[in-house]
Amino acid sequence: MLYYSTNKRSSAVSLREAVIRGLAPDGGLYMPETLPEIPVSYFDTIHRLSLGEIAFDIADAFLGGDIPRDVLAGIIDDALDFTIPLTEVEKDIYSLELFHGPTMAFKDVGARFMSRLMAWLYRNEKKELNVIVATSGDTGSAVAAGFYSVEGINVFVLFPEGKVSPLQQKQITTWGNNIHAVRVKGNFDDCQKLAKQMLSDRELNALLPVTSANSINIARLIPQSFYYFHAYAGLARKKRPVVFSVPSGNFGNLTGGLMARAAGLPVHKFIAATNINDVFPKFMETGKYRPAPSKQTISNAMDVGDPGNFARVTDLLGKNPDKLRKIILSGSWSDAKTARAIKDLYKNTGYIMDPHGAVAYLGLKEYLNKYDDTVSAVFLETAHPAKFPETMKKIIRDYEDLPPQLRGVMNREEKFHSMMNDPMELKRYIEEVNN
Ligand SMILES: *Cc1c(COP(=O)(O)O)cnc(C)c1O
Repeated sequence: MLYYSTNKRSSAVSLREAVIRGLAPDGGLYMPETLPEIPVSYFDTIHRLSLGEIAFDIADAFLGGDIPRDVLAGIIDDALDFTIPLTEVEKDIYSLELFHGPTMAFKDVGARFMSRLMAWLYRNEKKELNVIVATSGDTGSAVAAGFYSVEGINVFVLFPEGKVSPLQQKQITTWGNNIHAVRVKGNFDDCQKLAKQMLSDRELNALLPVTSANSINIARLIPQSFYYFHAYAGLARKKRPVVFSVPSGNFGNLTGGLMARAAGLPVHKFIAATNINDVFPKFMETGKYRPAPSKQTISNAMDVGDPGNFARVTDLLGKNPDKLRKIILSGSWSDAKTARAIKDLYKNTGYIMDPHGAVAYLGLKEYLNKYDDTVSAVFLETAHPAKFPETMKKIIRDYEDLPPQLRGVMNREEKFHSMMNDPMELKRYIEEVNN
């Protein structure tokens, strides 16, 4: 299978090149030239399959031409060593709990799969591969955890000073070994820009193999389609149309869903739910895409002012909002509404959402009220609430929870390189680590 660039100015490349380059030379994002077509009959019996079985079938459909089946099976076993439960929180409203991995955020799925795939694709090389990733919180910890001690790979995690939670910072900075944390004076968009600059810097690339691990990497997106199939399997026998509401920042999670749909998954509608960083909902309203500086919210992993995967969304579905609306609805919700939703659902049912999942829940509620309540409605619960103790305590007075995955990390010592928003300095640091 070849992968083309969404900017269409670079030539198509192999899976290996697409994964190791991350970003195409023309600045575009890689997409598979053809998407698999899962036969309709697959969905008649999908309810009998486990998460691992579904993940293997879908991975094989996307990647089977490039990766031996036993290798793929090993990668999936190893990467998806946790469950993804579908919990009914109100009648016909389900939370797809994507937070049972080691860093308790959905990014574990993509990061663990990508690290193992990358290591396999890069297995015969002499120089170490340098993975550069910008994070607004959860990407960094998931990537650090996913790549920790993976042979032949250095990881640089760029995070914005003062803009990630103390716990997220711990999860980024306490690894050591091949994981290098870099604290940048700036916001997430600055970090993302720095990462992109490193990836396209000719001098650096001539010297060292450099790649990305952001949601722009196709190796993270493919596994993010697995759990849409898995959720569908859990609902198939209800025989209702399925709606997914996705709490969105860089739009990688939504792109995983759109790829699942393009491969045949019967999805009735997607809801792209954002916080006040509303570039996408505004685009859906006006047809104009206007990147804006990111604003800080309580769902900070979604504080993105120029969603990296916008190019993939429009590559899959076109740029006409009228046509897009047949498949995706979008809206934005304030912190106050998000907090209120967490509080109310807790009071009414005892279920505790995190601020990201709660934005998606709000999207579902609006959909059900306004359009159609005869569907199975799923919101993607992308993080465990215990990742945001300060915020949660303000919303639910005696909130107190520290799952085992998070317990150990708080006592470990932080180590990071601190720098200005300066590409030259970052280049020097990367070269230093490689020497
Ligand atoms: C990254 C993240 C999101 C946003 O996902 P995108 O793929 O960037 O749209 C939502 N919730 C949590 C908890 C995240 O970490």
